[in-house]
Amino acid sequence: MKQFQFEYINDEQLSKELDRIAMWVSRTMTSGVCFQIFAETMDLNRIEAVVGAVTASMPDASYIGCSTNGNIINGAKSKSDIIIVCTVYEYPTTKIEVFQYELTNENYREVTADLINKVNEKDWVKAVEMLLTIRGMSMTGFCNELSKVKAGVQVFGGGAFSDDLNEEEAYVFSSSGSISNHSAAFLLIGGEDLNITTNYITGWKPLGRELHITKAEGSRLIEIDNQPAFRAYEKYLKIGNDEYFFKNTLEFPLFYYYNGINILRAPTACLPDESLIMTADINEDVKARLAYGDPETIISSIKEERNKLVAFRPEAVRIYSCAARRTFWGDNEVSTETLPLESLAPTSGFFTSGEFMRTGQFVNQHNVTLVIAGMREGKAPDLKTEDYSFGDEDNTGKYSLINRLANFIEISTNELEEANRRLEVMAITDELTQLYNRREIQHRIKAALKEEDASVSLIMLDIDYFKTVNDTYGHKVGDNVLRGLAGMLKDSLDRVRCNAVAGRWGGEEFMILLSNCPPGYANDAAEMIRKAFSGLDFDGCPHQTISLGTAEAHDAENADSLCSRADHALYAAKNSGRNRVCSAEE
Ligand code: GH3
Ligand code: MG
Ligand code: MG
Repeated sequence: MKQFQFEYINDEQLSKELDRIAMWVSRTMTSGVCFQIFAETMDLNRIEAVVGAVTASMPDASYIGCSTNGNIINGAKSKSDIIIVCTVYEYPTTKIEVFQYELTNENYREVTADLINKVNEKDWVKAVEMLLTIRGMSMTGFCNELSKVKAGVQVFGGGAFSDDLNEEEAYVFSSSGSISNHSAAFLLIGGEDLNITTNYITGWKPLGRELHITKAEGSRLIEIDNQPAFRAYEKYLKIGNDEYFFKNTLEFPLFYYYNGINILRAPTACLPDESLIMTADINEDVKARLAYGDPETIISSIKEERNKLVAFRPEAVRIYSCAARRTFWGDNEVSTETLPLESLAPTSGFFTSGEFMRTGQFVNQHNVTLVIAGMREGKAPDLKTEDYSFGDEDNTGKYSLINRLANFIEISTNELEEANRRLEVMAITDELTQLYNRREIQHRIKAALKEEDASVSLIMLDIDYFKTVNDTYGHKVGDNVLRGLAGMLKDSLDRVRCNAVAGRWGGEEFMILLSNCPPGYANDAAEMIRKAFSGLDFDGCPHQTISLGTAEAHDAENADSLCSRADHALYAAKNSGRNRVCSAEE
């Protein structure tokens, strides 16, 4: 495999470069030639002129290309708005094929089904590289369908973009179709000597407290923590709903865990109802955090990735980098994260509106990532040591300031979250017995009664002549009896045949909530508890007894009525001699 790559400067230089490649190809045994043409321009005439020159020079070559938000060549951001990359496959076993489809929100099933058929027919296919017009589209269905492609086939690629971040229009073209703003171009690559490795890195780190995505539909993020989604960006980042919204929010995507991997989604626009349009579909009911780009993390991810690629020994490297990364670094520094790869093999690609990569079975749409594909024909040649200087590695400078502040926020957030968790537990727990307190058990009774077909029962219980225990043995011993009763309740409830929780109702009175339990079962459970308690021994105090009342919820019965019936049943148990169970149903 050999990869030629050059920037378009003018027509004369273009034809010179193309002649040089054509000459090289004519003198070499090749199995396929594929051009990639990336254009940071929406001037279709110019794109078509370049495509025309390529096809005139090498009519048999395949090509795929798209409009972009910037191009990457020789591992760096290109100064030219059009770049030409030519991959020449040299092994006779290597095969490539290009397909192009119209792609819309309506027809993705047909597109993916047809593509998967093609891949299945061709047992040589190892990878599918794709360029897609995705702006304004929901790609979840497309990704889910494409995930059905046979195991082991790698999928990677990028969303076409425009030179203007706020522009929805984007173009894809290929040797199998014409230039189109609703299109998908697929390059199938494979053969036994072809090797491809794909990976993605982000370097974005979650920051601050967890936000709950309470309402989302497709790529529309409607509510965060039950508030219009925009307000989270306004409140935490002071980002205004103005013409710079996209540029400002792009660097602060939401970060969450999905399909076993980390997903980033950035807002692209704010609607009048303060809902946000995200860079891609976002999941409802996930816990997300705002994330920030951390140069140190990015560079260490790149180092790690480069080490993997050193072992793989690529002959060409393709980069699909989110346009957000260009915004984040700025044009002067954005190449910091791609140049280290150029030292291994010709590295090129573009700034995308979305990155795609298959991880395990799932094809995922990413945002704010760098998808990297290394390619090689034949065995990896022997390792020769390759060093790359990542430059200044001391911890002074502006990056470590960001890093230190972010670390401060992260650690203090964790401490606050931990403190909150402890407070939450305290707020529902009775201190002496460590059972739920009255408020919590009441809340749970109400919630259980709201559930359909929950078949709720209560057991209310009270220690017999407990005042005497206190009077005779002292308050401390009394407390031990209460703790012993609570411990026994926890153990017993672990063994009942339904959902059961216990709470301290007050003093020496307890309430047990049973749900999903068969009719009459509350009496059996109560009897078991009565027996278990009467068998308990307490330090310096002989066996004690309890009285219990049970009640089964009627249809549509409210909590007050049910509790009051259990209370009456308990009263009946006391009045009929104590140390027994009475049921409200009798
Ligand atoms: P009965 O069989 O009718 O329930 O008689 P009783 O003595 O248990 O009932 P009464 O309501 O007269 O007394 C309840 C006692 O429970 C009074 C109070 O001192 C005691 N008590 C309530 N809370 C606690 C506590 O947290 N610790 C201790 N040691 N005693 C408590
Ligand atoms: Mg009592
Ligand atoms: Mg009492």
